[in-house]
Amino acid sequence: MLVTGLEILAKARKEGYGVGAFNTNNMEITQAILEAAEAKRSPVIIALSEGALKYGGRALTKMVHELARDASVPVAIHLDHGHSYESVLRALYAGFTSVMIDKSGEPFDVNVAETKRVAEAAHAVGASVEAELGRLAGVEEHVAVDEKDALLTNPREAQIFVERTGIDFLAVAIGTSHGPYKGKGKPFIDHARLVEIAKLLGPDYPLVLHGASGVPQELVQRFRAAGGEIGDAHGIAPEDIQKAISEGIAKINTDTDLRLAFTTRVREVLNAEPAVFDPRKILGPAREEMRKVVEARIDLFGSAGKA
Ligand SMILES: [Zn+2]
Repeated sequence: MLVTGLEILAKARKEGYGVGAFNTNNMEITQAILEAAEAKRSPVIIALSEGALKYGGRALTKMVHELARDASVPVAIHLDHGHSYESVLRALYAGFTSVMIDKSGEPFDVNVAETKRVAEAAHAVGASVEAELGRLAGVEEHVAVDEKDALLTNPREAQIFVERTGIDFLAVAIGTSHGPYKGKGKPFIDHARLVEIAKLLGPDYPLVLHGASGVPQELVQRFRAAGGEIGDAHGIAPEDIQKAISEGIAKINTDTDLRLAFTTRVREVLNAEPAVFDPRKILGPAREEMRKVVEARIDLFGSAGKA
């Protein structure tokens, strides 16, 4: 059933578990997400970026909408990183129940003004709103404190930002970055900062973690073995994710892990069966591999059985 992002996340925050927001851009990914959520009896958020909408157009949004409505678990359809007011309006018109406006690259006052405008429009049609404060640049533990402060979410600013904009959930920059992490050392979550933000926003306020893929090393090894090139890729450790959920994170974004699962399985099938040329025999196994990834994430976040 189709619900708003806030309906899913308010309950998650209150009961202390996390909900996955998984990015889709085609039928197989969408089915993998929904099949996993239904098998685990978990609420789920399906995220579409502006790039996905450009790629899949009306065919994609109509399909996701139909499948979400038919699902036996609560599903929100969410615009990931909307960059303009117009982009958000298009998503709302297409039936999205949740939108993100990302003006985090703008100065604080501009971010507040533009986010507030989007929040008013989305709330007028009953959709929920996410915005971002701070930069998801990926900050390593050894970076100097003042340099970190310039990039990561300032707790006091977060409180003012939420009060002034009226958004429903806030994406925080606490060290993670998008994509498979390729920097030196290990990816890092600034737990003290997260705890401070959650304290100022209150015990019911849902926070969002971007760049939170796990990049399972088993998949990375299979990807390499099948001829893929990925370098020295890392994700966020499972225990770090669970700790962040206990500290206030309610929505955990995952895209990289699904891409990795999809491409790994496609490579393996094509390597093992050079004669195969039926797309279903290539994409079907990839869908199955992605479903397993989503199920593992749902178990990690603690949302199984919460539908
Ligand atoms: Zn993101």
